[in-house]
Amino acid sequence: MHDNQDLSLARAARVLEERLRPAIHSRPHPLTLAAHRVGGEPIPVADGLAAQYVPAAAGDAWGRAWDTTWFRVTGTVPSEFAGQRVEVLLDLGFDINMTGFQIEGLVHRPDGSPVRSLHPRAQWIPVVREAAGGEPIEFYVEAASNPVLLDYVPFLPTESGDWETAGEELLYRVRRADVVVFETEVFELVHDVEVLLQLAQQLDAASARRAKILFALDRALDTVDLQNVARTAAAGRAQLTEALASPAAPSAHLITAVGHAHIDSAWLWPLRETVRKVARTTSSMVTLMDEHDDFIYAMSSAQQYAWVKEHRPEVYARVKQAVADGRFVPVGGMWVEADAVLPGGEAMIRQFLYGQRFFRDEFGIECRGAWLPDSFGYSGALPQLLVGAGFEWFLTQKISWNERNVFPHSSFDWEGIDGSRIFTHFPPMDTYNSQLSGDEVARADRNFKERSVGSSSLAPTGWGDGGGGTTREMIARSRRLADLEGSARVVWETPDTFFERAKAELPEPAVWKGELYLERHRATYTTQHKMKQGNRRNEQLLVEAELWATVAAVRVGHEYPYEVLDAAWREVLLLQFHDILPGTSIAWVHREAAERHAKVSAILEGVIADALGALGVTLAEPVETQTPPVEPVETPETPARRTLLVNSAPVAQSGVGTGAVGLAATGSAPSVNTSGDAFVLASESVRVVVDADGHLISAVDLESGRDAIVAGERGNLLQLHQDFPNLWDAWDVDNSYRKMRRDLDTADEVSLDGDAIVVRRTFGRSSIEQRLSLSADGRALLIDNTVDWQETEKFLKLAFPIDVFADTAVAETQFGFHSRTTHDNTSWENARFETHTQRWFLVREPGFGVAFANDSSYGFDVVRSRRGGTVVSDVRFSMLRAPRFPDPRADLGVQRMRFALAFGADEARATELGWAINTPARPASGAELPPLVTSSGPRVLISAVKLADDRSGDLIVRLYESSGGRATTEVSLDLPVTSVREADLLERPGELIAHAPTRPGRVSVSLALRPFQVRTIRVTPAR
Ligand SMILES: [Zn+2]
Repeated sequence: MHDNQDLSLARAARVLEERLRPAIHSRPHPLTLAAHRVGGEPIPVADGLAAQYVPAAAGDAWGRAWDTTWFRVTGTVPSEFAGQRVEVLLDLGFDINMTGFQIEGLVHRPDGSPVRSLHPRAQWIPVVREAAGGEPIEFYVEAASNPVLLDYVPFLPTESGDWETAGEELLYRVRRADVVVFETEVFELVHDVEVLLQLAQQLDAASARRAKILFALDRALDTVDLQNVARTAAAGRAQLTEALASPAAPSAHLITAVGHAHIDSAWLWPLRETVRKVARTTSSMVTLMDEHDDFIYAMSSAQQYAWVKEHRPEVYARVKQAVADGRFVPVGGMWVEADAVLPGGEAMIRQFLYGQRFFRDEFGIECRGAWLPDSFGYSGALPQLLVGAGFEWFLTQKISWNERNVFPHSSFDWEGIDGSRIFTHFPPMDTYNSQLSGDEVARADRNFKERSVGSSSLAPTGWGDGGGGTTREMIARSRRLADLEGSARVVWETPDTFFERAKAELPEPAVWKGELYLERHRATYTTQHKMKQGNRRNEQLLVEAELWATVAAVRVGHEYPYEVLDAAWREVLLLQFHDILPGTSIAWVHREAAERHAKVSAILEGVIADALGALGVTLAEPVETQTPPVEPVETPETPARRTLLVNSAPVAQSGVGTGAVGLAATGSAPSVNTSGDAFVLASESVRVVVDADGHLISAVDLESGRDAIVAGERGNLLQLHQDFPNLWDAWDVDNSYRKMRRDLDTADEVSLDGDAIVVRRTFGRSSIEQRLSLSADGRALLIDNTVDWQETEKFLKLAFPIDVFADTAVAETQFGFHSRTTHDNTSWENARFETHTQRWFLVREPGFGVAFANDSSYGFDVVRSRRGGTVVSDVRFSMLRAPRFPDPRADLGVQRMRFALAFGADEARATELGWAINTPARPASGAELPPLVTSSGPRVLISAVKLADDRSGDLIVRLYESSGGRATTEVSLDLPVTSVREADLLERPGELIAHAPTRPGRVSVSLALRPFQVRTIRVTPAR
């Protein structure tokens, strides 16, 4: 037989796209179109319905960027459509490659109830399943003219990312508004042909199955009249029955399809647009469920449900019913799909607490799995936090984006820094936006790493990023892929069902220990510094506000501000979304987020001042929200007027204990002097020398006598790099950035100002002022930076040549720390050329190390270099970047950040320094206060003291082992107590730890903690 397979493939492909697919809708009759341009922010539905409409028609231009236009479509079902399934086709200028990134609409009936969404892959509105003819048609479409910012001109700077700069140009043109017949049999033929064709494209050219499929496709196309597809579709389908009926192999891979729309809570659109995106997608998904009995849809992010509840209650009612029916499945148990490396430990826990609380309150369920398909790396602290919050599984696919290394497992146990393990799945299809296309289905099978023992993977199925969700076409494909020879099988199931089977298949899963580092998007630790600063500041203020509000409630009956704290937490949690905190959204999003962070800070400062006021403590000065308060400097001349300090941190500061208000310890104050051309900062602990150009030429730890700076070299050296990544400007820094560098050698001015050395430099159109001083206790060097940043595509680093031989750099993560190698023996190590921390990182050799702490930045790098016959550590803070996409002016303007260095430090000292510069003691006057809760073990730190989320009046105390070893501690509670119980991270009470003491008063409980263990205790006060 002659082999005509290539011709058969090409024939089927052309006929499918040019003749069959266009025949799904037939016999168009134009409808009457009218439009109302809003010309601003979205208006309520009632206003949209009642607006003044003007006539519109195919060909009309409409829609400036970010505007809303209401379209009215009216007409009558033609009498000759009697007996047919009738739909409206409304093409507003859709680009089918831009689903979720372009025009979107929500269709309403005249009474304002939503019908479904319109998007590039769903331009139809259902009218009637079986027409009588003559039915009236009247729909109202709230259409958003969102601009395409990516893909047409990838990563070029654009002014369209903000209403204020986007311009007035009309972006789109209406193409058609017709009433049409939906040809059911043609629709089915299209999917028969498409599924078989796409399967054939994946099969080996020599396979008999492929040959037989192509033969059948030829026979089918020989049967279909391309001038009258509708009349001959059934005959064509008959030729494909046998090919479609041949069942899958017994060992075929099994794909759990889960209906999904990954909806970024903000990204290339503002937050307000996401409110509408979620409403559009959910309204379509509940409608799709009505039509397809086995279809299952999963949606994450309690915040997105809360938006639907608030803005589209009628859609929410349908969602609620579908959740009760088990068809609409809440997943993830988080407030939003947050970044998973930058949020602090308490905030990560609150993502789960507020997420699960919402699902419990609204639906009476808790999510069993965590769902973060798209976050940019996952900290090694997460397994413990997930298990502690009650999760049984974790899902992501993002590590498939690694530039270099292929992750070795699809399903495995992920082990955290403390040894906790959680079953984890990476969908081998490598996408969270599956269409169930032939190549995707084949890829899932091909990439699945556990194929020797298991056969199950999951595929989030639907248009995502900007929403859209699952379509009837995807469901049509799934039907044919349920049991098809040569293909993986596809079944609609809930994620929980999938995970039960996947776990059962792998009784001894492989183990991956530690962080899931993403080999991409390494600049998200640095880009949009104000996001990082607002987040860090508010995370600390929230914990501080909870502490003092609790102390005031317990000691003086001050009302605990539940609502205020809940609202503040939710706001901060929302802004931790995986395109906001990383700094990868449009200008609009970041402008708004900075304003929202500032508002939260002001509210929390008010809560703290109120609570302390109720306790008789008055803060000495209003605290600035952009920079941490300056630590008070004691003057030895006036020892009688010692300052009262409020210490909210779990480490002692200036002699004041944790969670206490007390008098600052007296001691000899640090001094600052000149010495020839140089400047010297000195205390009982350290002697730091700064040269005439403002560089650190010596930093001696007086206890060990060691100089931290490599002899003859300069620390505090600003280094400016060219930074133009290949792709993803706000996200990525490529290793090539290191090749071009300019050291900022000279200073405009170096001078003394009070207790500080002030260094001023200008470079390009930018300038920086640094204030170098010693901390009040004389143990750390503080560097306060104010940068007027006016660069383009540059990366600013602050470098220190550290005379320490270190194979690893230690970095804080949530509730602990971990090490990363400083060499690059392997491709995995080589890929980690830019890494992240929380509040501190450390290079050390036995007996001596240097700790580097920050108050608002997360990126750093450490490079081993040989100098003078040994290896030293070149250590650098990442300060600022200047990418131009998607925000063309990212980070421009004045930026402030504080760094602190401790010489002769170990992990314990670094931990203490990290706390101290982020939660500095506040000067105050009034009464001294003993702590309400203390932990005796120096390595067991209290990370939160609050009243329980259930408003029962119980106290929640969270502690963690901070050193990576085993520890015991006595937790003392200075209040009358009924009982002390263990609790999980969601504050649910567990085992009893201590009964009521025989007499009211201070109670102590003894706790033992595993390395890096996080423990929560729940204290019921005597009432
Ligand atoms: Zn995303």
